[in-house]
Amino acid sequence: MGEKNRMTTVVFFTDIQILHKALSFFPLQKFAGKSVPVKLHMGEKWNHYYVKPELVKIVIDELKKAEAMPYLFDTTVAYQGSRHTKTDYQNLAKLHGFTLKNIGCDVVIDDSGISTLVEGRSYEVADHLKDATSIFALSHVKGHIQTGMGGAIKNFGMGGVTKETKIKIHDGSYPIYEKDACTYCGVCAKACPFHALKVSKDSWVYNEKACFGCGACVDACPAKALHYQDTDLQYLLACAAKACVQGKTVVYLNELKRIAKGCDCDPNAGPVICPDIGYLVSDDPVAIDKATLDVIDKVAPNVFEKTNKIDPMKQIRYGEEIGLGSASYHLITV
Ligand code: SF4
Ligand code: SF4
Repeated sequence: MGEKNRMTTVVFFTDIQILHKALSFFPLQKFAGKSVPVKLHMGEKWNHYYVKPELVKIVIDELKKAEAMPYLFDTTVAYQGSRHTKTDYQNLAKLHGFTLKNIGCDVVIDDSGISTLVEGRSYEVADHLKDATSIFALSHVKGHIQTGMGGAIKNFGMGGVTKETKIKIHDGSYPIYEKDACTYCGVCAKACPFHALKVSKDSWVYNEKACFGCGACVDACPAKALHYQDTDLQYLLACAAKACVQGKTVVYLNELKRIAKGCDCDPNAGPVICPDIGYLVSDDPVAIDKATLDVIDKVAPNVFEKTNKIDPMKQIRYGEEIGLGSASYHLITV
């Protein structure tokens, strides 16, 4: 895991057939003889953009060549849908082609976890992640309504923890309003991507049902009349990601293809907002997500902020602040 200001390595490549070359920069030999969860969001039903089984198979084969014992891994989600229970998720995995025959390993889904303290808060890390000493992270890069972009940090920060912790992270970032401080300027209503706020001369109306806890209103309010229930969702995500990966050997692969406006959790995640770019590999979640933003920026400047009205850099800054990794990286192209 990286430390603040440590220069980490990120490898960029466009042809998945040379994945072995990209991985050669990282300590895959440490995976030998170990059970290695390959952490992947397998896509909500009807979503079209998630990482496909063909790519998973290539990753699994590389891990087997390194004499690891990989298995595909994810956690159940808090909302009703096709990944709510372990059985639901196993059925969905089959539907999306993640079968032993297609990918060459088992699929394991966790629904429980172990409390882990990071920066004074407790996060329930999924049992299999907690037990693992080595992890491979396979993350599909996409837009996200609460974090601007979802990559490696989000794959663990939301995807590596239990339902209870997922709910806690979501609930912690809803706004609290202080009437006495409000000047009714309307800045928060303009900043809200979901039209959950209506401000007029002397009224401030909040539609909790329309709110996604993205924090854009809290950040925008010039009078500091809005506060988080707990704190910024992107801070909690970075902390939860650290709870999942701290003290472990983790190699991260980000797929920069089919980059849609919304998350793989969203059945209607489209449209695609950036051309296909390729892949990045690193052993640092902050560096790989920062490199992801930088590489995408060259092709589609500020695309996540323009599309989702949320600053995706917050998770990077928080990640550095809490020692999850380093945003300073050295990019190698193979
Ligand atoms: S931005 Fe702040 S001060 Fe302005 S209306 Fe919203 S809550 Fe009130
Ligand atoms: S947290 Fe986000 S979605 Fe909720 S009211 Fe504020 S800006 Fe709107």
